[in-house]
Amino acid sequence: MTSQAADGGQARSAIDGSGTARARCVLAPNPSMMTLDGTNTWLIAEPGSASAVCVDPGPDHEGHLRRVCDVAAQSGQRVRLIVLTHGHSDHSAGAGRLAELTGAPVRAVDPAHRHGGEGLVSGDVVTAGGCELRVIATPGHSSDSVCLELPADGAVLTGDTVLGRGTTIIAGDGSLRDYLGSLDRLRALANAADLTALLPGHGPLLADPAATLDFYLTHRAERLAEIQAALAAGDTTPAQIVARVYADVDRALWPFAQWSVRAQLEYLAEQGALPPEAGH
Ligand SMILES: [Zn+2]
Repeated sequence: MTSQAADGGQARSAIDGSGTARARCVLAPNPSMMTLDGTNTWLIAEPGSASAVCVDPGPDHEGHLRRVCDVAAQSGQRVRLIVLTHGHSDHSAGAGRLAELTGAPVRAVDPAHRHGGEGLVSGDVVTAGGCELRVIATPGHSSDSVCLELPADGAVLTGDTVLGRGTTIIAGDGSLRDYLGSLDRLRALANAADLTALLPGHGPLLADPAATLDFYLTHRAERLAEIQAALAAGDTTPAQIVARVYADVDRALWPFAQWSVRAQLEYLAEQGALPPEAGH
């Protein structure tokens, strides 16, 4: 990672400070091709509450973690609970240090990422900061991904399941079948709960959740069709398929695209739609 200008000298993106009535983004200074503008750390609190929930502390960056505490303090709040949308280090690595700074426990699906906190199970209602957060299991990007619905604002914190720009990847331990199921669940929720905002782990707030989720579902269907076409054209390895299907994508992202292609080949194999020689 390239080093950024010292804190305060960095022009902060418009994402920093954005949000809804009860959710504020504190943008972490870790921009990259994979993290877009950086990791969005979210502070959730009912206005006037003396406590706040921090969702995804982000990287273990002392200046960022102290700023998270400061932003909460400016609203008269202390971070009383830390929640992780998933265990990837750009979301979780700062959790232990933020727990030290605040005394707040860390709740996460993966026991390895908890610090004095409980797990997270689909259907759990986390009540803190005067707000209710409903846990929705959304495996796919990673096996431990969850989204958090903030019903009071008609919003869902999506972690890396849905990003503010572009589309997400299926990581090594993720699964496309799980991911498509998760997108379907979120799409149904967008209608049922009349959602008005998705608050992603990277990139800007999304103000039309139904349209965004339709785009994601369409994109996945198109990629699958492209991969089936590549197989029909004689490609057999993920590297060959990436070179054809992701020709318009920056080559630096090709290694990550290979994870997605492997996930898609696994999915096609599960569906019985894969030629026997492909997928290695
Ligand atoms: Zn991730």
